[in-house]
Amino acid sequence: MGKKIRLVMFGRQGAGKGTQCVRMSEHFGVVHFSTGDALRAAVAAGTELGKQIGEIINKGELVDDSLIIRLVIERLNEDDIVENGCILDGFPRTVGQSEALLAAFASGEVAGSALDCVINLDVPLEEVTARMKARGRDDDTTEGIARRLAAYDNETVPVLDWFDEQGLLVTVDGLGDEAEVTNRLVEAIESAVYGGDSAAADSSSC
Ligand code: AMP
Repeated sequence: MGKKIRLVMFGRQGAGKGTQCVRMSEHFGVVHFSTGDALRAAVAAGTELGKQIGEIINKGELVDDSLIIRLVIERLNEDDIVENGCILDGFPRTVGQSEALLAAFASGEVAGSALDCVINLDVPLEEVTARMKARGRDDDTTEGIARRLAAYDNETVPVLDWFDEQGLLVTVDGLGDEAEVTNRLVEAIESAVYGGDSAAADSSSC
């Protein structure tokens, strides 16, 4: 049986992160866990906590580190992820969350081995800006797009730097067609996880 891969995926809006997360989860047979989706589900459930979370999301702010860390640790200990591994999408978003995640693996609070790698799906600012403008949603004004992308970069660069210091960061070129990017991601992940041992990689992938 192959290794249970555990990784984190970063990428600017418009970089194709959502699509590639789905493709990676299918290729490696791991669970795609998006904290944004999980929080929106909590809001839809209409609980008191869900209402508070909804207010925070609507203001464009981040949910409290302690709350999101608790939610993620609980989810990572559910059977499907323990048995199959996961791709984390939208978490961690702060250095505090990143430290808590690695500490939870190290202490055994989260079942399974440590994080295998952290992928930065890299598409330059000019290209994602052009893609988002082409998508032409009503709320996508030029200023709005620039503001959202700048906020993402401000929030994410320190987190990427931190993972780089831990030796976990792998940057993958996100330019090109979807299938081409998928191939690049598969190669990058296999090489991070198996260190170029292609026999081990072949026996685990699909
Ligand atoms: P997303 O779909 O990943 O953009 O997440 C939507 C919203 O959920 C974000 O704008 C935050 O308010 C909240 N959220 C998602 N993930 C996190 C996280 N790791 N830490 C704090 N807030 C989060």
